[in-house]
Amino acid sequence: MQRGISAFTRVFDALWLRRTGTQVDGPRIISAPRRKRGALRSIRGTGNRFRRLSPTRPGASLSPMDAEAAPPRSITTHLRGVLNAARGAWAQTARLALDIALPTLCVSCREPVHGEGVCAECWSRLSFIAPPFCPRLGIPFVYDPGPELLSMEAIANPPAYQRARAAVRYDDVARTLVHSLKYQDRTDLAPAMGRWMVRAGQELLDEADVLVPVPLHWRRGWSRRYNQSGALARVISRQTGVKLASEALRRVRATEQQIGLSRSQRASNVQGAFKVAADRSADIQGRRVVLIDDVLTSGATTDACARALLRARAAQVDVLVFARVVDTHRAPI
Ligand SMILES: [Zn+2]
Repeated sequence: MQRGISAFTRVFDALWLRRTGTQVDGPRIISAPRRKRGALRSIRGTGNRFRRLSPTRPGASLSPMDAEAAPPRSITTHLRGVLNAARGAWAQTARLALDIALPTLCVSCREPVHGEGVCAECWSRLSFIAPPFCPRLGIPFVYDPGPELLSMEAIANPPAYQRARAAVRYDDVARTLVHSLKYQDRTDLAPAMGRWMVRAGQELLDEADVLVPVPLHWRRGWSRRYNQSGALARVISRQTGVKLASEALRRVRATEQQIGLSRSQRASNVQGAFKVAADRSADIQGRRVVLIDDVLTSGATTDACARALLRARAAQVDVLVFARVVDTHRAPI
């Protein structure tokens, strides 16, 4: 019973931290603005609209990775299954207690929101990328130049990959979502972000044999505990049924952060950093690969990954990201 109570406390503490950005008995981590009276009711009213536009999967916020566990077979695994179910029940109770005590906050503006993710207002501030765009790079055009016409960028610097698509432009709300997923363990955002990526990359995913997330170096993976591209790829694989090959591509050399580097520095920073593992080459050889990442900036990382996949004889490499940086001065023809 004591263990049950402590498990409940742990789950409650974790949910509290996620919702409020503060620890139950600890220092403030993220300062949430004071909520105005009445704000809750008005936002809750719009919450239904948000849910209809973009339904979130219930229960996905707790541990989406557990959902992939194989069905239990032996007595030990059966017991583990029972314990997991009990833990799930505790989590449900803790979540219910928190729902009563404290509403979920929008990840971007930290106003109360019904469900997980972003509120209706922040959702409307996300710039979803829609046609017309460059068929090669997916960069949006300000006017439609006609089918098959490429952007100047694609002609001047053709990438190693075939096509790239992104769900949204990398702006303020998108940046908050990406950072929350990457640095604050907000894996509960992955289902919504993954769904938007599926919509943006439908054309690519329809032809795909396998999904490959851009890997982290194992040292960074340890410190961050999970790979955000892997979390997005798992969601996309579950939704589309396209096979996932998380371990196929490896980062064989730790690289510096790309932030603050010039275009050519970025390219040389990641050159030779990726390799297809010898024991996983069957997953790649002759396959049409969709490479998954959170953000596309200069394209240096995705290009280096695409080269590594093509060296391992991938039939084709496309790229699907959540957000891409769009340089408005260079985008249109
Ligand atoms: Zn918001």
